[in-house]
Amino acid sequence: MTLGGGIGWLQRKYGLTIDQLLSVDMITADGELVEAGDRVNPELFWGVRGGGGNFGIVSEFEYRLNPLGPTVLAGPIMWPMEDAPDVLRFYRDWITDVPDELMTMAVFRRAPELPVIPPELHGRHVVFVIVCYAGPIADGEAVVRPMREHGSPLLDLCAPKPFRAHQAMFDPSFPHGRWYYFRACDVAALTDEIIDITTEHGLRIKSPHSTFGCFHRGGAIGRVGENETAFGGRGAGHTFNFNGTTETARGYDEERQAARDVWQALEPYHTGVYSNFVMDEDRDRLRSAYGPSKYARLQDLKRQLDPDNLFRLNQNIPPG
Ligand SMILES: Cc1cc2nc3c(=O)[nH]c(=O)nc-3n(C[C@H](O)[C@H](O)[C@H](O)COP(=O)(O)OP(=O)(O)OC[C@H]3O[C@@H](n4cnc5c(N)ncnc54)[C@H](O)[C@@H]3O)c2cc1C
Repeated sequence: MTLGGGIGWLQRKYGLTIDQLLSVDMITADGELVEAGDRVNPELFWGVRGGGGNFGIVSEFEYRLNPLGPTVLAGPIMWPMEDAPDVLRFYRDWITDVPDELMTMAVFRRAPELPVIPPELHGRHVVFVIVCYAGPIADGEAVVRPMREHGSPLLDLCAPKPFRAHQAMFDPSFPHGRWYYFRACDVAALTDEIIDITTEHGLRIKSPHSTFGCFHRGGAIGRVGENETAFGGRGAGHTFNFNGTTETARGYDEERQAARDVWQALEPYHTGVYSNFVMDEDRDRLRSAYGPSKYARLQDLKRQLDPDNLFRLNQNIPPG
């Protein structure tokens, strides 16, 4: 996750995971143990911060630590999916001037059968806005209030909780052994068209496990220059991940197609893609994760370090 960039609940306050990476130790295709950091092998350090596992096997990551909580205001607020066009227009306007402490996600899905969700809501098509405020609880309450008071939420589980509990919130929704497929894209902003297309497709979700997630970007991510690390698309407004998931092979083809369909319907608005969210797509897709000049620079680095493409079972950047 780190080598592709690393997006998560603290990204607007502290940046991507790679923005907290100080150095790596790695084993190259020649079997050499090398270090890379700002002062040692800086070009390799540039490449591993977004370029994935293409350049060697990392045996040690050194990260900067930051203060946090440990209690944060966090959790999901849920509305009927039919209300998503209104809820997400409000959401889009609300997030334009929230502080970087606040990270949010919108998720379209059928309400999962989890103990925290009342049984009468299980299976209903809903849209969540999930928040995490990485600062004082009282400040977070004031920032989040307009969103939780908008419209008629079916459920509001936003409350002070240990950050680690919030961080593990998605775990029950993605157990090992299910059939997963995803397609992803970045977009500049949540326009009316994007909201309406996503809702239209969201209302057709069949599987109780499929999700359309939309990560809120900005904040600290965009304060690092686009060319300072290999990661591409720091200026994106949102990252979508359309997930088609089933319990077994049954129904999987249909869910996979549904994920492809919504992704395709949004194609006119794609600005790029997060490399860690690229699955079975062709090589050009990965090129669009980095843009042509960064992709060429990554290929040069690959040519120097791994000309035979030993490390190829990954989001592969073949030597030029
Ligand atoms: C359910 C789900 C939720 C996700 N949520 C997020 C999220 O919130 N944020 C986010 O940023 N991403 C998320 N991802 C994407 C995630 O970043 C990628 O799936 C990532 O590749 C996972 O890395 P891994 O090391 O766990 O997996 P692996 O499959 O083990 O590794 C991924 C790639 O990295 C290579 N690799 C692994 N370890 C090393 C190493 N030490 N040195 C060099 N190369 C190595 C592997 O060869 C492989 O190519 C999610 C994925 C899933 C399936």
